[in-house]
Amino acid sequence: MAPLLEAKNLRKVYTKGTGFLSKRSENVALDNFSLSIGDETPVFIAIAGESGSGKTTLAQMLLGFTKPTSGQILYRGQNIQQMDTQQQKAFRNEVQAVFQDPFAVYNPFYKVDHILETPIRKFNLASSPAEAETKILEALSAVGLRPEDTLGRYPHQLSGGQRQRITVARTLLMRPKLVIADEPVSMVDASLRATILESMYKVHKEFGISFLYITHDLTTAYQVSNSIVILYRGIIAEAGDVEEVIKNPQHPYTQELVGSIPLPNPGSQWMDDGPGTEAVENTMHKVTVGCKYATRCPHVMDRCRQTMPPLYQMSAGRTAACYLYDQSPELMREQLADVLYAQTETE
Ligand code: ADP
Ligand code: MG
Repeated sequence: MAPLLEAKNLRKVYTKGTGFLSKRSENVALDNFSLSIGDETPVFIAIAGESGSGKTTLAQMLLGFTKPTSGQILYRGQNIQQMDTQQQKAFRNEVQAVFQDPFAVYNPFYKVDHILETPIRKFNLASSPAEAETKILEALSAVGLRPEDTLGRYPHQLSGGQRQRITVARTLLMRPKLVIADEPVSMVDASLRATILESMYKVHKEFGISFLYITHDLTTAYQVSNSIVILYRGIIAEAGDVEEVIKNPQHPYTQELVGSIPLPNPGSQWMDDGPGTEAVENTMHKVTVGCKYATRCPHVMDRCRQTMPPLYQMSAGRTAACYLYDQSPELMREQLADVLYAQTETE
């Protein structure tokens, strides 16, 4: 059976200038990205990278909001650029988005009730007002909100944390198969991030919903996800079991990242923003040969500057794009899911 959602060799190049009057420049926001998310085993995968590493570009492409320059996104085997209305509707149902500041898109004059009732009406999720109410109460409770604190209120009367949990509740109402959450907690108070992510994790466990948790924050990624994909300038640097990747990073870039944050302990205080948040903001990722990390890498070798390293698979649940591991077998990028799920299944 075809996977729920499959990205095949995604590449996105933003071009500036026409090349006639202004100088033409190309920015490779994402390259060579493949990942498949199955239908049966729900997964919680973090996509982590500094600002500008291509995370939002990836999310927007997976959701069908941005077209890849090359490569394909398949929803249940069907290219999402070529779906008919029926398929589009099913896709919108099954693959939901949670954004940084979801309330930016909601009308501030509508009460929370309306925000939750709209999807029920639009997607015909209940056959009676009583059933609609039950579903709303259920969804609120699943994300740890009390109806008396939220219903009848306007978005601005809620805290940032409550608002983001309303979004998770709204997402839950639609019973999607997959939620793509792009920096869902980066705009809420650090002290509230844990509870919101926990509500996402709870929804994942209880309702079998897969999550792609996109973040610049390694600490929250570590706390909440099972597997992680580390992006560096639009390229997968390393991927695998989150415990392994954070505690025993293999790629020199991940080593640098992890070295720059206090090692997270489960149950400890959640850290503030992750490393390098603004470091490469607005950096143009020119079309280059070789490893994108070569200029910063303490282990750089000649070959690193000549050809981009493939992904090497060091163990069942572990891969890194680095020539230090060229003794290990190469991993076909389409096989990345196998590496990510190797541990999820044994859990
Ligand atoms: P992240 O979400 O990891 O911060 P983005 O996907 O937003 O990264 O950006 C990746 C790269 O693509 C950056 O260099 C950014 O400047 C560029 N970029 C993103 N969106 C656009 C756009 N609409 N037009 C041109 N360049 C863009
Ligand atoms: Mg982003």
